[in-house]
Amino acid sequence: MYKNLIDGQWLAGPASSANLNPSDTRDCIGQYAQADAAQARAAIAAATAAAPAWGLSTPQQRFELLDAVGHEILARKAELGDLLAREEGKTLAEAIGEVARAGQIFKFFAGEALRPAGELLPSVRPGVGVEITREPVGVVGLITPWNFPLAIPAWKVAPALAHGNAVVLKPADLVPGSAWALADILHRAGLPPGVFNLVMGRGAVVGQALLHDERVNAISFTGSVGTGRQVAQACAARMARCQLEMGGKNPFIVLDDVDLALAVNCAVNSGFFSTGQRCTASSRVIVTEGIHDRFVAAMVERMRGLKVGDARKPGTDIGPVVDARQLEQDLAYIDIGRQEGATLAAGGQALACNEDGAPGHYLQPALFTDTTPGMRINREEIFGPVVSVQRAKSYEDALALANDTPFGLAAGIATSSLKHATHFKRHAQAGMVMVNLPTAGVDYHVPFGGRKGSSLGPREQGRHAAEFYTTVKTGYTLA
Ligand code: NAD
Repeated sequence: MYKNLIDGQWLAGPASSANLNPSDTRDCIGQYAQADAAQARAAIAAATAAAPAWGLSTPQQRFELLDAVGHEILARKAELGDLLAREEGKTLAEAIGEVARAGQIFKFFAGEALRPAGELLPSVRPGVGVEITREPVGVVGLITPWNFPLAIPAWKVAPALAHGNAVVLKPADLVPGSAWALADILHRAGLPPGVFNLVMGRGAVVGQALLHDERVNAISFTGSVGTGRQVAQACAARMARCQLEMGGKNPFIVLDDVDLALAVNCAVNSGFFSTGQRCTASSRVIVTEGIHDRFVAAMVERMRGLKVGDARKPGTDIGPVVDARQLEQDLAYIDIGRQEGATLAAGGQALACNEDGAPGHYLQPALFTDTTPGMRINREEIFGPVVSVQRAKSYEDALALANDTPFGLAAGIATSSLKHATHFKRHAQAGMVMVNLPTAGVDYHVPFGGRKGSSLGPREQGRHAAEFYTTVKTGYTLA
């Protein structure tokens, strides 16, 4: 039984849930505690008590702690990557990459603890000095999704602690193992009791307790648009600070002048790797007429060679879908695409088991062609390995199609034209733009986030994380 960490103590919950391997549903990773609202409130109380002293800890203390956490994560990346692949279903290589990223994030924010920024200015009034400083926000509630079980908790917890806040982390129910491992590392690194609390449990119980508790000064949420809306409403009602990272329907434009192999590599990577379960995945590929048919033929050919199988088996390109519910949703959208008149050019079949006979949630990646912008498969986030291709008359037409979406997280273009690449970077309505690169795959030291329906509030990661995890104070002194 893996327990919750509250006020420096490991506590069992009133219930527990089994963490199952989506590559082989007979494999149970462990039983993880499920907290009730009272346990969530106990964690908030512990964080509230611990926040003032942690807020006054020295930059050196915070640096050493976060650096040690980053060091341990990196040293154990093979083992933690195996756990991550086993509980979430991304391939071992992808999982180890995610763990390494989490370690690097802790190292980066260890450095940020040593670099608190301030400004000293002359006043507009004679004899007065002005200083601008940043202080911790206090207690932050962090609510994370299942698709990056370690990296997303890391990119919220590390800046929160670096900037002197106390934390209550509520990870996704489907993947508590990686978050538990992170809590264990933080605990053993010597954080004072209550500074970091792990409360595993259901969103409707633990998540709601965090949203509605006056003692939680700020909520950082990553997840679906529907839940994000509830988070924003709850925070607005009690004037709490909030940061939302939500869904995407990210476009990837392929222009006539492109190197075809590069375009196919980018589209396959962004559409299908990590089983398409990335908020930055490109599920809409917009292709100009001169290369459309050659591009589709090359995609179909490349997809034939993709091996779907056990996430931890060498040679697997695409692991299983995370659970039965998500698989059902993916298959429902594949049906919707067919009914809307799109052509299923490749894939789309569920496989009950892998080549070794292990039962899992397997899906052959799907490519739709002959799609139009109004189709639901082009408007709604599916969150699976399902990509649709749209035909565009020109670059200008492709850009208009790319921006025709309620989302705005990432957008990509494959082209050899500097003119079009430059224009696209300026005019794509997205928080992140990629030229001749997959839309998924980002650096850990720069801001991450989107616009329109994808994000709300300040950016995550890099130096910009301070915007959310600190509050600004302006001091005036008569000299
Ligand atoms: P989700 O919204 O179902 O759950 C996210 C978290 O919110 C979970 O911890 C869940 O338990 C909790 N939650 C659920 N209901 C709640 C409630 N009523 N009150 C409080 N908390 C509640 O999302 P998911 O299915 O775990 O994740 C997939 C979604 O996350 C996709 O839409 C994806 O695009 C998005 N995502 C976005 C980013 C980004 O940075 N933009 C990154 C990864 C995933």
